[in-house]
Amino acid sequence: MENNKKRELTCIICPRGCQLTVDIGEEIEVTGNICPRGKTYAINECTNPQRTVTSTVRTSDGGVVAVKTDRTVPKGKMMECMEIINRAVAELPVRVGDVIIEDVFGAKVVATQNKG
Ligand code: SF4
Repeated sequence: MENNKKRELTCIICPRGCQLTVDIGEEIEVTGNICPRGKTYAINECTNPQRTVTSTVRTSDGGVVAVKTDRTVPKGKMMECMEIINRAVAELPVRVGDVIIEDVFGAKVVATQNKG
């Protein structure tokens, strides 16, 4: 179809980094993927892009602790997500996997390092 849009993407699901071409028309066609995960990634990236957020949260001793979301959040909500993370303060001690924030757009923010 003439009105189709094409997008070139690099699949980030595994280290092979397949170069994907996404043809977006009435249906979405993906080429260049070696496995089905690449097709799923490309369709999600074009329809509802998501990202895992990695950052730091201030700790009660004035330092910081590394954190990440335990699942992806909508890419369009990244700024709001960072604002919530930037306002949080983690009480020490903190251990890897401790939940620092219960719910940020459906994800928990968990510690990725021990502190205190
Ligand atoms: S399409 Fe499959 S093989 Fe290629 S980078 Fe993505 S996950 Fe890896």
